[in-house]
Amino acid sequence: AAPAKPQQLDASKLTYNLTKSPRPVPDEAHAFAGDETICSDHMITASWSAAAGWSAPELKPYGPLTLMPTASVLHYATECFEGLKVYRGHDGKLRLFRPDCNAARMLMSSTRISLPAFPPSELEKLVIALMAVDGPRWLPRDRPGAYLYLRPTIIGTNAQLGVQAPSKALLFVTASFMPRMDAPPGGMRLHTSPEDMVRAWVGGFGYAKVGANYGPSLLATAEARSRGFGQILWLYGPEGYCTEAGASNFFVVMRNAATGRAEIVTAPLDDRLILDGVTRRSALQLARERLAGEVDVVERRYTIDEVLQADAEGRLIESFASGTAYFICPISFIHHRGKDVKIGMGKDGKGGDITLKLKGWIGDIMYGNEQHPWGVVV
Ligand code: PMP
Repeated sequence: AAPAKPQQLDASKLTYNLTKSPRPVPDEAHAFAGDETICSDHMITASWSAAAGWSAPELKPYGPLTLMPTASVLHYATECFEGLKVYRGHDGKLRLFRPDCNAARMLMSSTRISLPAFPPSELEKLVIALMAVDGPRWLPRDRPGAYLYLRPTIIGTNAQLGVQAPSKALLFVTASFMPRMDAPPGGMRLHTSPEDMVRAWVGGFGYAKVGANYGPSLLATAEARSRGFGQILWLYGPEGYCTEAGASNFFVVMRNAATGRAEIVTAPLDDRLILDGVTRRSALQLARERLAGEVDVVERRYTIDEVLQADAEGRLIESFASGTAYFICPISFIHHRGKDVKIGMGKDGKGGDITLKLKGWIGDIMYGNEQHPWGVVV
């Protein structure tokens, strides 16, 4: 008989094994008290093998995984992940923000490191299924504005030390509490990356959301934090191109020296140095749609020296970072090799006009104040 065709990931085959001992849902004050991330009652898992393809996904009680010490992920960083939130809206509904973008990015990351492919729409359905079960209890209706953080992950699990593409993998999705990080009082302070370190490089994998991009960045981040900075502004190359601010995309609003026009400037995707952030693309699209005439949107290479020069010439208007964790976060200060740049934070000190407009619009879609196709109701 012909060998069976490997199975595709199929959310309609999801089985439900519900917990018999649901855990108490902590209030915000207690959600981050311990040193372990608090996850919701359930997780979703699906396993994959090269021969059989994807197993039927399973929703089951949250708990530890079993892995052999020789598992591929533990040695060769065969791991990718996603991060998105489910929001309890002011209209009482639960919403995901553009989950199709996260699912598509996860497919890109997975195949970049020889982990399996899957139809992104099936991953999106699994995320929604987990929230349909845990969302109502973990995000009570009387807590509008609350959210949970969803972490879809794929790891290579084959127990072989041979350096090769994984023949087995595991997909899992958890939901957890995550502290609010979006706006440190007074704005985010950035320190540019150390001269001898680079986060990503042309031809590398900086554009993929793989664990291998994060571990090596922690050293510089910890050092900067100990000196009162929030994130590293990662520069690239001898020119010092601005790329990303920690695990978020980076933007400056400055007046063009030649034309005098205000521009939102951010690094381009085609160098493949930065992550195609869902918040980034949303901010750029809304700026193009709703701020046309007021400010231009420019995706191009630009250097830290250009930013310093714009500051010296009074052309630097504002700056912000964007990401699921930090949302739209105003940046008030950049330190670069002995030089300080202080950036305007608007009249109330909460962020510049453009930063706050984008933050408001995107937040309104996330929390259902504006009905928009980007807000996907669970
Ligand atoms: N850059 C990096 C390196 C990140 O890890 C993230 C967080 N996913 C972002 C940017 C922002 O992406 P998003 O808006 O999709 O959260």
